[in-house]
Amino acid sequence: MPFYEYTCARCGERITLQRPMAEASAAASCPMCGEGRLVRAISRIHVVKSEAERARDPSWIDRDLARRLRKKSEGRLSPAFKDTLDKMESS
Ligand SMILES: [Zn+2]
Repeated sequence: MPFYEYTCARCGERITLQRPMAEASAAASCPMCGEGRLVRAISRIHVVKSEAERARDPSWIDRDLARRLRKKSEGRLSPAFKDTLDKMESS
């Protein structure tokens, strides 16, 4: 799944989410402040990896980001976002 960058309209936090392309513009609330609306940002980084490449090179970046987001949000994650983090950590 591709990564998309969002900026929180309330706190300005920059968030990167891995989502299906069909959901790239779907509404999401900020995992940091819990109230802001995430606005899609145009990513300057394009990371495209095939499944084979991912298998050879486990994405520590995903896990590191997931850990960082979890720590910052301190249990105020929405179920949907928690699910996203779980997927990131297991990828
Ligand atoms: Zn926010």
